Amino acid sequence: MIYFDNSATTELLPSVKQKMIEALECFGNPSSRHTLGMDARRLVEGARTQVALSLGLRESESQRIIFTSCGTEANNLAVLGGVRSKQRNKGSRIITTDSEHPSVENAMRRLESEGFEVTRIRTVGGVLDIEQFEACMNQNVALVSMMCVNNETGAVYDVGRIFEIAKKINPNVITHTDFVQGYLKADVEPMKLNADLISISAHKIHGPKGVGALYVSPETVKTKRLVSVIEGGGQESGMRSGTENVVCIAGFGEAARAGYIRRAENRERLISLRSAVEQAAAFAGAAVNIPQGERAPHIVSITLPRIKSETMLNYLSSKGICVSSGSACSSHSAHISSSLIGFGLTQQQADSTIRVSLCESNTEDEVRQFGDVLRDGIGMLVRFKR
Ligand code: PLP
Repeated sequence: MIYFDNSATTELLPSVKQKMIEALECFGNPSSRHTLGMDARRLVEGARTQVALSLGLRESESQRIIFTSCGTEANNLAVLGGVRSKQRNKGSRIITTDSEHPSVENAMRRLESEGFEVTRIRTVGGVLDIEQFEACMNQNVALVSMMCVNNETGAVYDVGRIFEIAKKINPNVITHTDFVQGYLKADVEPMKLNADLISISAHKIHGPKGVGALYVSPETVKTKRLVSVIEGGGQESGMRSGTENVVCIAGFGEAARAGYIRRAENRERLISLRSAVEQAAAFAGAAVNIPQGERAPHIVSITLPRIKSETMLNYLSSKGICVSSGSACSSHSAHISSSLIGFGLTQQQADSTIRVSLCESNTEDEVRQFGDVLRDGIGMLVRFKR
């Protein structure tokens, strides 16, 4: 089995598995005041510190991390909770991009149905249209939410620059970035992005599924500009009620610790594998969609000649190779990827595009095998179509 679908999810690191097995023994509720509760609390707070450090925060700043059930929930909390605050500056406009993950895009649609005006900034070639942003950013904007790394093309959007402009024009605006695909992968320092809110997810960095986090800046807390979307017992500083998922949170902490230590060498390894995949794809007769600006090291978007991505996905799968057609998170909905259309592909090209996403333990030999199978597959499936 060759696993090239690491943007959909990653395998647990052995040390993460071990940490989770140990945490299973600790069944206390972290909100309980007795010994068992305190043991569970220690696991949660230890993990919070590791996640904080992995984002470039200090240990003393770990309370800025709010654990959620996934990246999707972190995005929903940021977008819905960011504009519903009573303290908000009464703005009725929200600015986002035309290529967000459904966990942001569908939250935007809900807000549109509630009367907010949502402007989507173009991302042709994987580059944010800063002129379009400057033309619509004003005092009436309540929230700017833009992903940092696109999950289908690997384009790194310059959200740091966008948020800097946004804050200059309207210091009350809330800035949020979906950092799920950039976390511990892209050459981006999240604390330098001028972001009030940052979403991450554990299962993209060799942690467990079912746990994510939202970084909340101290200014956002001070000005009460974020309100919870889940009501209950007030866990996670009142921002996310519900008894914490101690086992998954403990696993998240270990994945963050291990990933942070190895981030530079992992990135170097991924860049080298990425260029090998690009060469293999080109040799096989496919086109690589290379973003014009910065790029994430682990994602390669490949457009096939006149073959539907689903057909190629099934062919590769039959040969033991796992890739995805567009984003796995949205692949159960039949619509054509808005990210790829936003990038500049036609509907037909988007419908023929597969995504290879790598992890540092993939090998050159796997890439060679992928290249051979892809070349054979293209030769056979194109002929079959005639
Ligand atoms: N944001 C992006 C860019 C993603 O790629 C994903 C998942 O693929 C998510 C958010 C959602 O994360 P989760 O699967 O933890 O809900």
